[in-house]
Amino acid sequence: MNDKALVVLSGGQDSTTCLYWAIERFGREQVSSVTFDYGQRHRIELDCAKGIAEFAGISNVVLPIDTFAALGGNALTDPDITVRAGVNPESGLPNTFVPGRNLIFLTFAAALAYRQGIAHLVTGVAQTDYSGYPDCREETMSLLQETLQKGMESEVRIHTPLMHLSKKETVEMARALGALPAMALTHTCYNGERPPCGSCAACLLRAKGFAEAGVADPLLA
Ligand SMILES: [Zn+2]
Repeated sequence: MNDKALVVLSGGQDSTTCLYWAIERFGREQVSSVTFDYGQRHRIELDCAKGIAEFAGISNVVLPIDTFAALGGNALTDPDITVRAGVNPESGLPNTFVPGRNLIFLTFAAALAYRQGIAHLVTGVAQTDYSGYPDCREETMSLLQETLQKGMESEVRIHTPLMHLSKKETVEMARALGALPAMALTHTCYNGERPPCGSCAACLLRAKGFAEAGVADPLLA
């Protein structure tokens, strides 16, 4: 096992917090980041990820995955579908759910890590306070880690530092890690607006976390 870490960086608040977590845990020179261009409707996320990595002094690779857009059927990749609040009564999931997204991301991240001799993957998934995405749960991540280890004959580890944290606790962690200045460069809004719309589910969740932590959101400063 080495001490090199690859952070899956989406350009959002959570993955940015994870980037700073990895820098503290492994050391800046050991950390790199990967961002997936999966046809997300908000291209601004890719620019944010690049800007955050630069700001943190970390390399960033963008890998294209265009299959999710071809599959369609969710509001994050299909321009014909509007982001709706609430959940689909049949699936119990919001229409921003992209089935399999985190599984695919981490599998490609593991493949990149394998090629570069990196033992640690870091992802910002969390099972608290969220929309109930099943690919963000601890059990899913632990089984995926096992699968990747077997399938790649590697000791790759998936770290999920935010797994059991509320949004409030995530903001507190970001503050403790000195990640707040980078938060000004992050993107959260489901409507892709900058400055953020302030009314979509993602904006509201973000605002709630900062408010409960008693921290002003640097993005809104
Ligand atoms: Zn918004």
